[in-house]
Amino acid sequence: MLQFKLVLLGDSSVGKSSIVNRFVKDSFDEFRESTIGAAFLSQTIALQGQPDVSVKFEIWDTAGQERYKSLAPMYYRNANAALVVYDITQAGSLEKAQAWVTELKEKVDDDSLVIYLVGNKVDLAEADQEVCAVPTPEAQQYADDNGLLFGEVSAKTGQGVQDTFQAIGQKLYDL
Ligand code: GDP
Ligand code: MG
Repeated sequence: MLQFKLVLLGDSSVGKSSIVNRFVKDSFDEFRESTIGAAFLSQTIALQGQPDVSVKFEIWDTAGQERYKSLAPMYYRNANAALVVYDITQAGSLEKAQAWVTELKEKVDDDSLVIYLVGNKVDLAEADQEVCAVPTPEAQQYADDNGLLFGEVSAKTGQGVQDTFQAIGQKLYDL
């Protein structure tokens, strides 16, 4: 069994806790309380196509609020992977995500840190195209330019969530 530390970063309300909750408990809570400081959860998966390989994620779900920003290095310092989340309906949240990516690249020495950029709340765009504030190609281009993995998910429907962690697990396993 392989064990990896993963940290979630991103602006508040983009759905970090909801993504973790979907991944760990396969549930969604419309009225989730915002995270104070950080929360720790863990989940073990079998790699797709390699059922004899288990990957255990030790997950630090951080609070996005500015007042907790100084705590973030404690959580990303020893991380093997970072899931940097934005909300596809909030253009400003992609900018916040990009600032986190820049900080990670500056502060984390380990070149093997896997950074995955994820656009959450795709269910909202399926209901109404107009609400999409971050076009997929724009985020994809940014991810490509910066060597990040990228995907879009919905913590609400679960779309893409398992695949995201599978991709991170596979990438860490291959390193
Ligand atoms: P965090 O501050 O980044 O941890 O965000 P939360 O997980 O607390 O979610 C913030 C709000 O967005 C909550 O009201 C959630 O119910 C809502 N939310 C989270 N993920 C989704 C999603 O995929 N779709 C929709 N429609 N709402 C979501
Ligand atoms: Mg939270």
